[in-house]
Amino acid sequence: MRLRDRDSTDNSRQERALRLSKYNFIVRDGDAYLAYNALRNGLARITAETYGQLQEIGRHASPRIDEAILKELQRGGYVVDEDFDEVHFVRLAHQARKFSTGTFGLTIVPTMDCNLACTYCFETRKPVRLSDATRAQVVTFVRNYLQQVRFKTLSVSWYGGEPLLEPELIKVLSEQLIAAAEEGHLNYEASIVSNGTVITDEAIQLLKDARVGNIQVTLDGAEDVHNRRRPFVGGGGTFDLVVANIKRLASDFHVSVRMNVDRTNSDQCLALLQSDESLQRLFVENKCSLYFGFVRPFTSSCQCIAMDCFEPDEFWSLEQELTGEMKNLGIRHTDYPSLPGNCTAAMLHSFVIGPEGELYKCWDSVGDPREVIGHVSRPVEFTGKLMEWLSVELGEPGCLACKYLPLCNGGCPHVVLSRRRNTGSLSMDCTKWRYQLDASLKERYRAHAKAKPGQAVEAK
Ligand code: SF4
Ligand code: SF4
Repeated sequence: MRLRDRDSTDNSRQERALRLSKYNFIVRDGDAYLAYNALRNGLARITAETYGQLQEIGRHASPRIDEAILKELQRGGYVVDEDFDEVHFVRLAHQARKFSTGTFGLTIVPTMDCNLACTYCFETRKPVRLSDATRAQVVTFVRNYLQQVRFKTLSVSWYGGEPLLEPELIKVLSEQLIAAAEEGHLNYEASIVSNGTVITDEAIQLLKDARVGNIQVTLDGAEDVHNRRRPFVGGGGTFDLVVANIKRLASDFHVSVRMNVDRTNSDQCLALLQSDESLQRLFVENKCSLYFGFVRPFTSSCQCIAMDCFEPDEFWSLEQELTGEMKNLGIRHTDYPSLPGNCTAAMLHSFVIGPEGELYKCWDSVGDPREVIGHVSRPVEFTGKLMEWLSVELGEPGCLACKYLPLCNGGCPHVVLSRRRNTGSLSMDCTKWRYQLDASLKERYRAHAKAKPGQAVEAK
């Protein structure tokens, strides 16, 4: 089901009361204004005169505003019918996506074992792996599920532990899942999160055969910082190996490099790109992309790292600085919001499969027996735990009144549940746009004006 808001340009203004959208952001830009609407994700530059007229809407029964301009403002979502409840619309769209049958999403953990001993790792390292018997149950589970619900895409993410410690398992299971998708006339897509240390020629061929498109690898700044934070289990740095492997992988896959940032490495984040020209070129040519991960004390077992973590406002201002430096190096970076989908943890047809066949909703729950919602050996049931995850709504105190709600959907459901259960001292998982929207809009407008002088910014 697709939700569309009513096209509010079809009747004459005399028939309807109008008001300003709750989700307008107006930023002064020289002698004019940048007007952004978070529900439509559109940006326009308006004159001071139009800005004045816009302010009259909602204040006066008959605002003095040019009819053509008013239509444009309605089209961009800046002006809406008085009775159009935008908060309700955002919540309905979230509900609709929750039950979407577009994609059957599986995150599969072949093993919880890992060959690294990262200082901030929140996962429980266990040598347990998906057995052949459990693998067969996974395939039966998927086939049965696909018979009950008609999807367009089967999407698989390989996760761990280090998933490439189990290459044979990924190979065999991928073949079986691809066959199931093809028999059901579904698209098949895959990605993997790897620490980047077990990349052999065989592993590269395996990833191609398994139709993996995107590989996420973590690098934590310059060599000494990375080696301190991400050593092998037996000791010894992983930096040189991971950098060499990113370069190998980039010729066949898109590599997303995640850099976890906290107080201990924030001054070294871009040093490795500045010191390695061939690596930097991969980012400039868009074969690799870089994003900065906000390290937070996510579970009670991580409270020991809390002292090193940034506060959200500190982190997002640092991120803005770092992305500015990336642009100076010639690396493209999206600095305009995109409307988020739902986290898969709060979607019905999406599961994380642990190495013993146990089912979870959230990636970060793997290994926590309290978060198990079922098992691949039986059909999914609406247990209390499953319903708890699916009941995460956009209704957290503070969020419903928040202008950033369409850009955030209330943040990470795990954080919402932790707050609800009162099991952590977590603050809300507010969107980065809360900290850097104004500057990004100005940046976007400047880039647009340079590329297409004289043209209005198009709504996205
Ligand atoms: S609930 Fe939060 S931590 Fe879990 S998968 Fe979603 S965004 Fe990630
Ligand atoms: S999580 Fe923060 S930014 Fe997002 S809607 Fe709630 S209060 Fe607003």
